Amino acid sequence: MRSSRTAEPDLKVGVLAVQGDVEAHARTLRQLGAATTEVRVPEDLEGLDGLIIPGGESTTISKGIESAGLEPALRAHHEAGKPILGTCAGLIVCDSEHLGFIDATARRNAFGRQLQSFEADLAVEGIGDEPLRAVFIRAPWVESRGPGVEVLASHDGHPVAIREGGVLASAFHPELTDDPRFHAIFMAMTTSASAREGASKEEAR
Ligand code: GLN
Repeated sequence: MRSSRTAEPDLKVGVLAVQGDVEAHARTLRQLGAATTEVRVPEDLEGLDGLIIPGGESTTISKGIESAGLEPALRAHHEAGKPILGTCAGLIVCDSEHLGFIDATARRNAFGRQLQSFEADLAVEGIGDEPLRAVFIRAPWVESRGPGVEVLASHDGHPVAIREGGVLASAFHPELTDDPRFHAIFMAMTTSASAREGASKEEAR
């Protein structure tokens, strides 16, 4: 049955399932009307409109990407202009020192030992006036960024949500609360990327 939640009910979003919090992301995506699939091998990226790289442990996720031979398919997805959301360790994996999908560097475990895990109300660009309750777990912050990177939210003066082109990244875990507004930003990016792709295929006919 088609979902009535979105104008583009056929969008398919993958969640990288090397390690980390896969099901919570999938649940939020389904809530927003997307079809979801777990990405474990390169073929799983075929036909996806968007991809989430979840939190977990960035070293483990990077090693998993390498051992599953996923890097070329991830690069192809990115180069095709298909959106990517990286959360927490996923932000680190997307940064300039790892896959280089976003022109920024992350500082791991940046909020310090006493603050391993905490929650904060964040003002986030593009989700309306109501603050977003954000869950941080041994979170990074964005240490440096290029001029093309837009900061959507900061905490204690450090960027914790950023966007550049088709890449959205957060230091917190938007999948761990009931509030789908951060994923909705990503779904809006995915909807317009998919519409653009549809239009250019139509032109090529
Ligand atoms: N501290 C982890 C890392 O450096 C990230 C934690 C998370 O994803 N919740 O990879």
